[in-house]
Amino acid sequence: MSTISSLPWAQPDAGNAIGLYAQPGLDLSARIEAAVARLQDASIQHGDGLVQSSSLGVEDMVITDLIARHRLPIDIATLDTGKLHAETLDLLHAIEGRYGLTVQVFQPRSEQVLAFVRREGEDAMFRSIELRKACCGVRKLEPLSRMLAGRSAWITGLRRDQSGARAEVGFDEDDGNGRRKISPIADWSWAEVWSYVEQFALPYNPLHDQFMPSIGCAPCTRAIAVGEDFRAGRWWWEDSSKECGLHAKS
Ligand code: SF4
Repeated sequence: MSTISSLPWAQPDAGNAIGLYAQPGLDLSARIEAAVARLQDASIQHGDGLVQSSSLGVEDMVITDLIARHRLPIDIATLDTGKLHAETLDLLHAIEGRYGLTVQVFQPRSEQVLAFVRREGEDAMFRSIELRKACCGVRKLEPLSRMLAGRSAWITGLRRDQSGARAEVGFDEDDGNGRRKISPIADWSWAEVWSYVEQFALPYNPLHDQFMPSIGCAPCTRAIAVGEDFRAGRWWWEDSSKECGLHAKS
C-alpha cells in the first residue's frame, strides 16, 4: 500500500508517466487560459450550484489544480465506491495537504451494498454486463445522485481523445438529467495533461506509472498494453462501451 510520502510528484523519469507522456517545454498557456475561463464562466453562472466531480484521475488532478491555483470558489467532490485502490484514496490527503481544500466524499449506502453482495456475491460484475452495471448503480450512480442533488452543473475531466464514445464531448453540455456538464479540458491531449503535471509539479496516482491511464475500481481496472485503447483496461473482460453510466445521457 502506498503512503502519501510515496506519491509521485512531478519528476520526469524514463519509467514514469511524466517521462513517457509529457513533452518538455510544451507551451500550455493558451490551453490553460481557455480552461480557466471556462471554469470562471461556470462559477459565475452556477455559483454554489457547481461542483467538480473528481475521479481523482490525472485529468481531474489538473482541474483541481486550476481551481485551487486560480482561487475559484468551486466545491470538489468524489465517489468512494468502497472498491478503490489505496493509491487512489491517498490522493484525498494529497489534495488536502497541498491546497488546504477538503474534498467531499460520497460513499454508497452500506445497506444497498450489503444486500447486493449477499444476493450476487463480491465478484458479480464478472458474470454479466447487467450485474456489472447493477454494481456500478449501487456503488457509483446512487452516491453520484446525492453529490449532484441541488446542483445545477458539474465539472468533469472528460477529454475527447479518451475514447471514440467521448470524441464529441462538449465544453458545456446537457447531461441529460437537467444539469450542465462542464468539461474544461475536453480538447487537451494526453501529452498536454502530463506536461501540465510536470510543469506545475502535481501529485498524481502512481498507478498511472503502471500503464493504467484510466483508473476506476480495483477489481475492474487493469494495465493496458502498447497499442490498446485508452480505456481498454476498464471492464476489460467486456465487449462494451467502457462506460459505467456516470456519463451516459438518459
Ligand atoms: S467499477 Fe466495478 S467494482 Fe466499481 S462499481 Fe462498477 S462494477 Fe462495481
